[in-house]
This record gives sequence, structure tokens and C-alpha cells, in this order.
Amino acid sequence: MNRRKILIKGGTIISINNNQLIKDQLDILIENDKIFEINKTIIAEEDFTVIDASGMIVLPGFVDTHRHLWESPFKGMASNWTLMEYLQNMLGKIAPAMSAEDVYTANLLGAIEAINSGITTIFDWSHIINSPEHSRAAIKGLKDSGIRGKFGFGTPGTSVWEWFYESKLKHPIEAKEIKKEHFNSDDDLITMALAIRGPEYSDIEVAKHDILLGRELGLQVSMHIGGGTFGPKYNGIQKLCNEKLLDSDLNFAHANTINKNDFKLLADYGCSISVTPEVELQMGLGLPITGTALKFGITTGLGIDVISATSGSMFDQMKIALQTVRAIQNEKSYQNLEMAERLTITDRDVLKLATIGGAKVLGLDNKIGSLEIGKQADVILISINNIGMSPTLDQISSVVLYAKDQDVDTVMIAGEIVKRNGKLLNFDLEKLMEKANNLVNKIVS
Ligand SMILES: [Zn+2]
Repeated sequence: MNRRKILIKGGTIISINNNQLIKDQLDILIENDKIFEINKTIIAEEDFTVIDASGMIVLPGFVDTHRHLWESPFKGMASNWTLMEYLQNMLGKIAPAMSAEDVYTANLLGAIEAINSGITTIFDWSHIINSPEHSRAAIKGLKDSGIRGKFGFGTPGTSVWEWFYESKLKHPIEAKEIKKEHFNSDDDLITMALAIRGPEYSDIEVAKHDILLGRELGLQVSMHIGGGTFGPKYNGIQKLCNEKLLDSDLNFAHANTINKNDFKLLADYGCSISVTPEVELQMGLGLPITGTALKFGITTGLGIDVISATSGSMFDQMKIALQTVRAIQNEKSYQNLEMAERLTITDRDVLKLATIGGAKVLGLDNKIGSLEIGKQADVILISINNIGMSPTLDQISSVVLYAKDQDVDTVMIAGEIVKRNGKLLNFDLEKLMEKANNLVNKIVS
């Protein structure tokens, strides 16, 4: 049998394996889609493809646990919007105007953009299911990009008023057909999840129906929660608890304004949280709760979320997540007229959220999120030789606080090299960007 073998040689590996930080110069041998060996020195054989990783940091690919990929062509459109403006304009006006072909272009563009920045796994929270063709197009865009991830089958973008304002409409039952048609194996790169409105955007009976639909299909169920005043107004976590619906298959995006008891419930039931710090700060969702989630021991990851408002880079989200926790801590100290003696969160904690933390949120930590023998070969190489990165005193702070998308030299997903020497492979980017430009002109004009 002809096996493909790739040897990544001479790099500094950073990975959190079983809660232990590995930071060492090690070689990695990849065989087909899996990590086959990690060792101090692995001698290259004749049939190996060797990647010289000297001067590189070798990491597991980043995991973006929450993004609306279909908004990818509209960069900057929502950059000055509040949540209410976003709902009324992006979901109210742009979403209904998207054709299935537009969704394909948007998803492909967004997924490739994510790959370029070192994200190898993404949760596409797809509330653009305007027709069966739209879901097919969204799935095809994701699959054609070569990224790993979950397709979060959501609701139609045809009327935000009906679907997102205390909606009484149940989640589309077509989820069943979509699963049968497109998602037959958990081993595929793209698997399915359900992206529901939950108790802040639909009534509790609908939320109950939607969660049970997800459970009937064996799918992870994700919803937005704790967004600004919606948190105390709807008291969503408590409502779900009263209905006995909380369980480890539920994922909550944001959770900014849930209360202490809610955090305890999420920890007790093993639910996960996706923090998307940049957009939360902008749109008035509340302060990112990274520090609190970690304190409660809740499974937590990071996400980009509204790509029409913020950058799609995990580097930005890591930095904002980290510095916001510090800002909250320092402000608290100042309010007591004290200076903090030490910081309660480090760059290590945030790197963990962006890798193995995200993998746990998506229930994929047995496959990805760390560099370990037997895991899928989702690997990224970050160059430390670029200006702005060099000299590097600490590789972890380099990744979290200094690196940019252009420092991502190589990206590999399931052993397939999709970016090399800083360049994306396999895609006609010019044609794709032209298509994206055309669709923006068509919809915005
Ligand atoms: Zn979202």
C-alpha cells in the first residue's frame, strides 16, 4: 500500500496534551491523515516529503467554534453596528437577498480565509437556510474548501422578524433530510450540528422542540445566549434547566450576561461556551466571560462570529480575549484602590482555548486540538523569522500577541497541505474574489 508520509523537521512544537504543555524541538511524522510519530529526531526516508520547520513554531490548527461564514463577503458592513442594527440590517435585509450561489461563494471564501489564518476547524453557524438549495450550497462551499468543521444547520434568513424576535416557528424539519443526504459518517471532515435560536430568540416551546430535534438526530445543538439585556430578560439557561433540557450536547455562544447560577448549571451539565470577544465588545453583548468560564471549569473555546463586523483572525480573538480578562481584573483592583500583584490569565491559557479548548467545545478532542500520535494531522507552522516576530523570546507569547495571518507559513488539514510557504494552494483566489465582489455589488447596490 502506498502511504503518504510527511516529515516536519526541526520546528518547535507547542501543544497542550492531557493538560500538559509541550514546548520542545521535536520532529513529527505524518502518515496519510494522521500523526504517526513525534520524536526528538526522526530520520527521513526516501519516500518522505520533508518540511523544514527550523525557525518555525509548530502548532495544532486553530479551532473557530462560532462563525457565520455566509457573511464573509460583507467585510466592514457591520463594523459600526450595534446588535439591533445588525439584526435589522444583516439578517433583515442582506440575508433575504442571498441566492444559493451567493451562499456557496461566501462559504468557500470564508473557509479559505480561515485556513489562511491557521484555522483548520470551524463551526459554521448557518442561519441562511432560505431554501434546500441554500443548505446544499453552504455545505458544498464548506466541503470544497478542504476545511474541517461542523455545518450548523440553522433557520431561513428570509424574515428576521418571524425567525428571530421571540419566534414561534419551529426549526426546519428538513434537518433530517439534510443529515441523510450529506452527513453519513462521523469520519468525514465536515459533520453536522444544529444552529437553533434558543430561548432568547424563540419561545421556550420552540427551543424545546429544536433541542429535541437535534437529539433525535444525534447532533450537537448550538445557540446564542446572554447577549446584553436578553440575558436577564429571558433568563434562558434557567428556562432550559426547568425544562430539563441542559446537557453536554448544548453549546452556547457568548453567555456575557448570564448569572452565577447559570454558570454553575453549565459547568454541572457539561455544556460548552464559545466566547467571541471582539464582536461582543462592539455590539453591546457585555464583557467577554472568558475568565469566569475558566473559573467555573466550563468547556470553553473561541470564535470569530460576525465576520461582517470584525477580523476573521484567531490571532486577534486570542489577544482580545486575553487582554479583556486582564482589563476586568485590573479595573476591579483599581476600584479597590489597589494595583494587581499578578495577572490571573496568561497567554498559555488563551492558546489552549484556541486549540484543544475549541476541539472540546465541538466534541472533536479525540481527533484534533493537539499534536499527539494517532490524532488527525491538522498542523500549522508559524514563521518566527518575519519582522515583528523576531527575535522571539517566548514562542507562546509570539503566537498569541505578535503573530499575524501572514506569519502562518504552512497549514495542513488531515495530512493535506493547503498552505505552504505562506501561499494558499489549490484555489483560484482571483476568480473567487471576483465572484465575491460581484455578489456584494449585486446585493448592496
Ligand atoms: Zn453568532
